[in-house]
Amino acid sequence: MSAVKTPIYMDNSATTRCDPRVVERMLPYFSEDFGNAASRNHPFGWMAESAVEVAREQVAALIGAHAKEIIWTSGSTESNNLAIKGAAHMYERKGRHLITCVTEHKAVIDPMKHLEQEGFEVTWLGVDRQGRIDLGALADAIRPDTTVVSLMAANNEIGTAHPLAEIGRLCKAKGALFHCDATQAAGRMPLDVVAQEVDLLSLSAHKFYGPKGVGALYVRRKNPRVRLAPLVDGGGHERGMRSGTLNVTGIVGMGEAARLARECFDADVAHVRALRDRLEHGILASLPDAVVNGDPEHRLPHLSNISFPYVEGESLIMGIKDVAVSSGSACTSASLEPSYVLKSLGLGDELAHSSIRFSLGRFNTAEEVDFVVDLVVREVLRLRAMSPLWEMVQEGIDLSQVKWTVH
Ligand SMILES: *Cc1c(COP(=O)(O)O)cnc(C)c1O
Repeated sequence: MSAVKTPIYMDNSATTRCDPRVVERMLPYFSEDFGNAASRNHPFGWMAESAVEVAREQVAALIGAHAKEIIWTSGSTESNNLAIKGAAHMYERKGRHLITCVTEHKAVIDPMKHLEQEGFEVTWLGVDRQGRIDLGALADAIRPDTTVVSLMAANNEIGTAHPLAEIGRLCKAKGALFHCDATQAAGRMPLDVVAQEVDLLSLSAHKFYGPKGVGALYVRRKNPRVRLAPLVDGGGHERGMRSGTLNVTGIVGMGEAARLARECFDADVAHVRALRDRLEHGILASLPDAVVNGDPEHRLPHLSNISFPYVEGESLIMGIKDVAVSSGSACTSASLEPSYVLKSLGLGDELAHSSIRFSLGRFNTAEEVDFVVDLVVREVLRLRAMSPLWEMVQEGIDLSQVKWTVH
């Protein structure tokens, strides 16, 4: 009946398919143009270096930075580690206090915890029901010994966007560095390190139609000039902040992906937003008690995190296995712990477990969305029909008043 090809990929916040134009640009750098960008004595090296510098301009342009402010890394996990640990250690004499938020990605949370083990003090900002921080609480938390404030541009599980310009202004006024994990926002929300007063910003190519295993860290060069203690020593590549032979093919791919993200920004955003809205409206029209999580207004355009009360998320994911999505527990790797992000919004374990993240991308179609809406609605209705909780709700029992006994 339907022409859509399954499985359907709707997990673009986990990774995106490489754009064919990106792959095309990368190919010569696996073969003829295989040089080491650090080789100074022959054209093989010069070719590689010039390709890397073109990519550096392209990535810088995506965020309003200067090419010299871009440091190549292996992805956002490394960029976050380098920014947070690198700045914490470099500015240790100024102070040992850092600020972040409980809904950050593990690639920010874990380096912060690591620094806590080393004796640094971390203030963990909480969030409201929609995943928003309180700017007043942030202002109060910044102290004379605060060196780094790390807050993401937009959340990878619920899509809530933080007000970057306001955060940047606060940090600048109080003399703390602002690190922003912008992994999800690249190509989906406007990023401008000047207007938003960001000092350090992490990007990952595979989240915006580039290859995996390559990323960048923007490091501000003036007002202030930010310095970082390197995580990796050897050779002094990348202004001494990140040694190691550059991943030239990956970098060329990231550059082209950044160029496309800029060129296609309006079209990409309009496309994913239209599909996301179609998905949400379709699901909510048939399942009015489904709940969309996150900030309804300030959020990523491609992502929808929806809780389906009275059905179990894992069963739902199994039931819709023709669609690749993430569950409310997928982000903590193999464990079935409910998502810490959803829990920090105040969702109970039940609701967190019944949540699914749909994330759309450049290559999704309206036909795919319609197929997914049908499938999800059908499956939720089927699972509910088997759910004793749903039956009780239909009988008018208020579940919050029920006293459960554990045997
Ligand atoms: C994917 C992601 C990361 C990790 O990026 P990698 O390049 O895969 O290491 C970090 N932060 C956020 C918000 C992400 O979505």
